Amino acid sequence: MQSTVKERFLKYVQIDTQADPTSHTIPSSSKQINLSKVLSEELTIMGIEHELTATGYVYASIPGNSDKPNVPTVFFCSHVDTAPDCSGTDVRPIVHPNYQGGSITLPDDPEQVITLEKFPELKDKLGHDIITASGHTLLGADDKSGVASIMDAAYQIVNNPEIKHGDVKLFFTVDEEIGKGVVNAELDKIGADFGYTLDSGNIGCFEYENFSANGFEIKITGVSAHPGYAKGKMESAIKIAGEIVAALPKDSLCPEATSGMEGFVHPHSITGQLESASIKFIIRDFVTANLAKHQAMLEEITTQVLKSYPNSKYELIVTEQYRNMRDVVDNHMHIVDTAIQAMENVGVAPSLGSIRGGTDGSLLSHNGLPCPNLFSGQHGIHSKLEWTTVQEMQAAVSTVVEICRLIEEKA
Ligand SMILES: [Zn+2]
Repeated sequence: MQSTVKERFLKYVQIDTQADPTSHTIPSSSKQINLSKVLSEELTIMGIEHELTATGYVYASIPGNSDKPNVPTVFFCSHVDTAPDCSGTDVRPIVHPNYQGGSITLPDDPEQVITLEKFPELKDKLGHDIITASGHTLLGADDKSGVASIMDAAYQIVNNPEIKHGDVKLFFTVDEEIGKGVVNAELDKIGADFGYTLDSGNIGCFEYENFSANGFEIKITGVSAHPGYAKGKMESAIKIAGEIVAALPKDSLCPEATSGMEGFVHPHSITGQLESASIKFIIRDFVTANLAKHQAMLEEITTQVLKSYPNSKYELIVTEQYRNMRDVVDNHMHIVDTAIQAMENVGVAPSLGSIRGGTDGSLLSHNGLPCPNLFSGQHGIHSKLEWTTVQEMQAAVSTVVEICRLIEEKA
């Protein structure tokens, strides 16, 4: 069966689907639906039943061809939108066939150079057909590599009836890049037992844990007075906020000093006048219970600072954002085992990692659909240096097809 992943990918990336974080519409930019429509047309050509919703979601369903009665239903998910950080208008994809090493200079802006220094994994791509943008835009491999891989896998499955599989569902989302990918997802329309997002990096990357995340705000109320007659009365909320920020840890527990499995507290916004001030944080940790410990530390700093300001007050506001999918996936480790075995069966070396952020999969997992994240061949995402390779996407296709086959075999 001929691979269609490259042609699909080149077509999808030329459709501008940039999400808009300032918008209040669903989807945030209506142009995202242009790609959803193309997917709908291609699914129709493949004879795959599906629904394109008014908000741009595509739910598709490939009926199983197995004689076994109880094969679990799996789904695969990716997002059609691209990041707001970098232009996605007039993307001109360039295929660099049979990569032979060295740097790749992007023709429309010679200052944009993909180098081994920036991307050490390039050394493993000799012979690959690398796809880049032309220098003015991102490429959109995040996540059109995932979309193209899932679409080609569907094409392979429906055209190779000798591959036995249970029901396979596809789910394409919008607005993932602004944290709203699955907020309107209808789980009964997905209609699966578990699934995988294809929204990850280098070949073999597989992630089933991500940060647990809270928003946290310290609101300070000080005491105002006429500056000329303030002695012994005024308590400046601005100065209180400044002292709290100055007391935060600097060599640990902050984004600039942590990596791997370490969590952090991060003040991302501060506003204030004499009488009132607010410090907003994001709090992140792979261990969900540690969020409360980090919040307690912030409260301790606040009460210490306020000892010098006896007539001022504080208020803490906690907002739950997302949770580590591992809390859920740990109870369904067969999902992880199947993915690892599938990769090994198709000659891909699995590389387990953790996401220092959230995914569509973390929300789906906590809503009852366990959903780890599988590689699709993304590199340099959200930038003009973004690239992927045809061979990595083909490996993602093979992995998806093999996952479907293994689930049937094990049932
Ligand atoms: Zn993505």
